[in-house]
Amino acid sequence: MKKVIIGEQLVKSFGEGNEQRRVLDQVSVEINEGEFVAVMGPSGSGKSTLMFALSGTDGIDSGTVMVDGKELSTIGENELSDLRRRMMGFIFQQPTMLSNLNILDNIILPAMRDNRKNVVEISQKARALMNRVGITELEKRDIKQVSGGQLQRAGICRALMNNPRIIFGDEPTGALNSQSAQEIMDILSEINAEGTAVMLVTHDAKVAARTERVMFMRDGAIVNELKFPKFEGTDMDGRVEEVTERMREIGI
Ligand code: ADP
Ligand code: MG
Repeated sequence: MKKVIIGEQLVKSFGEGNEQRRVLDQVSVEINEGEFVAVMGPSGSGKSTLMFALSGTDGIDSGTVMVDGKELSTIGENELSDLRRRMMGFIFQQPTMLSNLNILDNIILPAMRDNRKNVVEISQKARALMNRVGITELEKRDIKQVSGGQLQRAGICRALMNNPRIIFGDEPTGALNSQSAQEIMDILSEINAEGTAVMLVTHDAKVAARTERVMFMRDGAIVNELKFPKFEGTDMDGRVEEVTERMREIGI
């Protein structure tokens, strides 16, 4: 199967001398085109660091990351940021948005850096995405005048502006109640069904159970993995139970 990202033998340490700690300990991960994966693990196990490494957000000490046939350590800053902008979308627990701009302007801001496109085209695209995730009427709102779930929808629109091949989400439902979290997962599942790979860090078994592969991390290594049939519908409770059981085994 074609891979969107291949990370091999990733090693990353923080700190100096006796304080030095290996946060990624020879982790190898491959993400298939269009795959939907979750990463779970105790706090501090290296989940965010892994995501930063795979997305080229942060460097690594050794190992290789291949994206779109390119090894990230061999390309320059400009090419790297171009590759990230073209290929990747990012969503976070708290979408980082500017409080002096309205929702629409926040969504289009990163895309405006791509000077091949004009503002009319970009705004049209943003409005189509907002319509799709159900926040059309919030276009002119200040970011403080919307709920957490609505803000995350806007964050998803922003992440989709350049039609990425993969969306990285670092606990994107972590600040939401269970209902809003499931609504965000509905949107991500739909986007995934259209072919965009999604990689999520989550602590929520109900979120992880909706993906097709759950990787479990501990102490900088992937220690376990669960696979599920891609298209859900069947026995979601059983899947949640399996994830929960595995979390218990790993001590999450
Ligand atoms: P997780 O996302 O699984 O909670 P992280 O990947 O954020 O874990 O962090 C793993 C470990 O690396 C933690 O012990 C954290 O303190 C440490 N760490 C992460 N980023 C840095 C950094 N920039 N400087 C120093 N230590 C860091
Ligand atoms: Mg983290």
